[in-house]
Amino acid sequence: MKRALITAGASGIGFAMGEAFAQVGFDVWVTDVDATALPRCPSNWTTRQVDASDDVQMRRLFEEIAAAGGVDVVCANAGIAGPTARVEDVVWEDWKACVDVTLGSAFLCAKYAAPLMKASGSGAIVLTSSTAGVFGYPNRAPYAAAKWGVIGLMKTLAMELGPFGIRANAICPGAVEGPRMEGVLQREADAKGMTRDAVYDGYASGTSMRTFVTAQDIANMAVFLASDGAQRVSGQVISVDGHTENPDPKP
Ligand code: NAD
Repeated sequence: MKRALITAGASGIGFAMGEAFAQVGFDVWVTDVDATALPRCPSNWTTRQVDASDDVQMRRLFEEIAAAGGVDVVCANAGIAGPTARVEDVVWEDWKACVDVTLGSAFLCAKYAAPLMKASGSGAIVLTSSTAGVFGYPNRAPYAAAKWGVIGLMKTLAMELGPFGIRANAICPGAVEGPRMEGVLQREADAKGMTRDAVYDGYASGTSMRTFVTAQDIANMAVFLASDGAQRVSGQVISVDGHTENPDPKP
């Protein structure tokens, strides 16, 4: 049975990835920093409380995975939004925290997955970036920079690891329906004296398809990128975003 590891998988996109990989027969391992969220994972998944940006915890996790027989697919999915502030107001500590989790966690996945995948002669690494990493994101400089960094990391992994039969690709989700975006919509609606629906429509109007996407949309792409159907796809940035037409709509 093939094994997939998903970081930050107790909720949101990572959870949908866990469900999608389970559905196609993978042995699913999910980690999350939030121990209280892990029990909602199905009992046949292996769950571990791990801060994906902590080197020691990640090294131990991969030691356990190695002892269990290795890993075929790693979804480096952890990322935090970081501060919402103009660049001149971003506090250095907040910059570092956002980049550590959003980019550092992806690096740690790659660092510890590479030797295991090299030993087996195959593997797929799927990194969650963001449309913010392609277009930028006003008032989210640390997040956008870290997600751009995820793409640079992915391109390098594809070059370094391709000769060993290992592929790396990045998915760029647009705005994903769910608790994270609901918070953003509500905060923005409150700040601008608008309704939540008006703010939603403003964001959606930035896409050709006038839509947000779902966690399931992202999970479907992760499963495809990890599959034999994508066996010659590597080093690619795949947007799943309803086609971003205007990256900075003004709701
Ligand atoms: P989320 O905010 O719903 O959080 C998912 C999980 O991440 C939570 O269970 C949380 O406990 C966990 N987590 C946070 N920090 C962690 C850490 N240091 N180590 C391990 N787990 C940690 O996230 P989401 O919306 O599902 O986003 C998942 C990924 O997709 C992130 O990288 C995010 O930046 C990216 N993304 C999200 C959106 C969106 O609109 N939601 C859009 C583009 C990209």
